[in-house]
Order: sequence, then structure tokens, then C-alpha cells
Amino acid sequence: MKIRLAADLQSDSIVDGEGIRTVIWTQGCPHHCPGCHNSETWDFNDGALLDTQYVKDKLSKLKIQDGLTFSGGDPMCQPEACADIAKYAKKLGMNIWCYTGYTYEQLMFLSRTNKHIMEFLSLVDVLVDGKFVLEEKSDAAIFRGSSNQRIIDVQKSLEENQVCLVEKYIVKEKNESFKFGHEQYLFV
Ligand code: SF4
Repeated sequence: MKIRLAADLQSDSIVDGEGIRTVIWTQGCPHHCPGCHNSETWDFNDGALLDTQYVKDKLSKLKIQDGLTFSGGDPMCQPEACADIAKYAKKLGMNIWCYTGYTYEQLMFLSRTNKHIMEFLSLVDVLVDGKFVLEEKSDAAIFRGSSNQRIIDVQKSLEENQVCLVEKYIVKEKNESFKFGHEQYLFV
């Protein structure tokens, strides 16, 4: 199975989800958000078309990663290949995050005609959804670019048939402090 990537795997990200993460940068995005930092990933014919086995082989050699993040580009434009990789990453014990310009509700709608979207979603732990909105750009927003985007607990949302946010990432105070479980981190 093939996947089109914008770049090789990044194995040391601490900003694309919790912990030390490997990031898969998918190529191709239909959303074209003004202010996007990754406009070179928009073209569906650019990047490199690789076998998903190439990605799996790379994942199998990783040692200290907490999880795998799908970003781009929009991974939801290649749901079958992403599901194939996510299935393998799960077997390695990795948790899965995914960034998408679609909203959760749009994905639910699209999944009616594309079964691979649900196949992929069923493997995702955390979904950061929605387009990047320049007017709502927020340096205080953790793990997302603009405050309209949501950090969604996918498995709980699928189970309850409604959007459930990851509670610990919800901003508690306006002074740019956030609570992660029992700890508090200040962003400066
Ligand atoms: S969804 Fe993401 S990659 Fe696509 S245009 Fe918007 S910010 Fe850029």
C-alpha cells in the first residue's frame, strides 16, 4: 500500500502531542487555511509516494517514542494508508494522535461513504480537528494552532456518539497556565 509523504519521518517532536513523538507528514491538503505554515504540503502530486512498509520498518527501529502523530497535509485524505500504519504502530504500543483540517462532525459524515475514515479513526486516540483560523491564532493554545481547534478523545467520542474533549488540555486559566492531571505547567 502506498502513502504520499511531504517529508521523512520526524522522530523527536515534543510539540505535536504529548511526550516524545514520531511525526508522519502526509502530503496533500484541500483546506488551504490562510496563515498555514505547511503550504508546501498542499499539492496532492508533490512529495514522495512511498510504500507503507517503509514507514513501518522505520517505526520498528524506534526506541524511546511515546507515540505517533499523523500530520501534514491532511492525513484524513489518505485514511486507508494511515490506518495501515496506525494498526502497526498500535502493535508496537504507540498511542496515536492525528491533526486534520476537517471537523470531527465532517469526518463522521464523510465516513458514511468512505469506510477507511472510520477504520483510521477507530485507531486514533487523540484528534486535533478543524482548520487553522488565523484570527483565532493563540500562542496559549496547547498542541494546536488556533483556539477553534479541539483536542478530542476519539475513543470516548465514538463510544458516546458525541464530541468528548480531552479534559486535561482544556485551558483552566487565562494567565497561560494549564493543568495536566495533578501538575501545572506555565508557558512563558
Ligand atoms: S489543514 Fe493544516 S496543513 Fe491544511 S491548510 Fe490548514 S493548517 Fe495547513
